[in-house]
Amino acid sequence: MTPVLPGSTDTAGQRATLGVVGGGQLGRMFVHAAQRLGYFTAVLEPDAQSPAGLVSHHHIRTSYDDPAGLAQLAQLCQAITTEFENVPAQALHLLAQTRAVAPSAAVVGIAQNRIEEKAHFAACADVSGVNCAPYTVIETPAQLQAVQEERTDLLPGILKTARMGYDGKGQVRVKTATELGAAWEELGGVACVLEKMLPLKAECSVLVARGWDGQIVSFAPQRNVHVEGILAVTHAYEGNMPPALADRARDAAISIAHHLGYVGVLCVEFFVVEDGTEHGGLVVNEMAPRPHNSGHYTLNACDASQFDLQVHAMAGLPLPQPRQHSPAIMLNLLGEVWFDADGLPREPDWCSVLRLPGTHLHLYGKLQARAGRKMGHLTITGPDVASVTSVARRAAGLLGLPGLDAI
Ligand code: ATP
Ligand code: MG
Repeated sequence: MTPVLPGSTDTAGQRATLGVVGGGQLGRMFVHAAQRLGYFTAVLEPDAQSPAGLVSHHHIRTSYDDPAGLAQLAQLCQAITTEFENVPAQALHLLAQTRAVAPSAAVVGIAQNRIEEKAHFAACADVSGVNCAPYTVIETPAQLQAVQEERTDLLPGILKTARMGYDGKGQVRVKTATELGAAWEELGGVACVLEKMLPLKAECSVLVARGWDGQIVSFAPQRNVHVEGILAVTHAYEGNMPPALADRARDAAISIAHHLGYVGVLCVEFFVVEDGTEHGGLVVNEMAPRPHNSGHYTLNACDASQFDLQVHAMAGLPLPQPRQHSPAIMLNLLGEVWFDADGLPREPDWCSVLRLPGTHLHLYGKLQARAGRKMGHLTITGPDVASVTSVARRAAGLLGLPGLDAI
């Protein structure tokens, strides 16, 4: 990979430009990072008011698989990435015929399908030292019946669609074989995995960035708290989890990325389970082939953010090992914050929040607040964990955020 040099212009007078398929908040923060380094940016996204499209030099407004749109993106950009998991892998294939595309269509395809994803985790379990929760695949009525009869060890469990799940969508919790049958029907009889419900002590995720040459850098694991299947709080500081587990999670994420031949930023999510189980305390859940919501704190608490690393990795620049300079807590701001207790629209009291020390507000420019919609996040940094925790509690209280007891 010949590096795409920031701020450069080619012989035809074209500015070095990085592209992204998808126009959501991850694309927006990627665009900000690329522009800071002097790149021009192009976003392929049908929505006229998308968070990333609104801030990019170029906004190609077509569907993600439109051949003309993809051709225009390839014409404008020297390197291209994606910002959401369900981008058609075929579109990345097409772009990769003429441009550097990171991550590749092949690895995005694996991460888009829980069946392939789990097979990958199992394949590198010996090296990574972690496995996924016990599971089985259900793709046909015959398989369903066999599981109902022979795999009751997986109950209670969670039935998850193999494709298109996110933020807890496409999942049903089941206790009995009868409930399992009903759940499969409810999910439309599509390919699914049934996963054993594990007693979670905590959840964490690890962000790594890997270059075209195999160089890899990583952030320390962050501990995540979900409310109703959606990330609510991220704790990012030393001591957020037992150091031995943190080291294991980091090593596992690195070996998973190497094993995939991954290029770009990869987030691997883990469960921390009761010690003394067959899983040895750590279980790999899933991976996101992109920067991740749980890594947003890196924008304010580290000397290189996950988005900076995505830019460096795809453009073939050296990857700096990021250094976290402040403990941080990130609070996700979902659409609920824009409504009062009676369900009436309100403007959140930002002034009171921003008066608190070390608060960093990020809003994604979405015009309409809806329940469960990710509208922004608030990161709190400070000199020590105690002060960050205290400010985070006060901010969450002012905004009426759920999960206060998790902070
Ligand atoms: P994301 O938004 O992270 O992509 P997702 O919808 O793909 O999420 P998962 O990460 O598989 O779904 O599950 C969502 C949450 O449900 C997990 O973070 C965890 O809290 C809970 N969960 C999932 N699988 C299990 C399990 N096997 N045992 C216990 N809890 C689980
Ligand atoms: Mg998840």
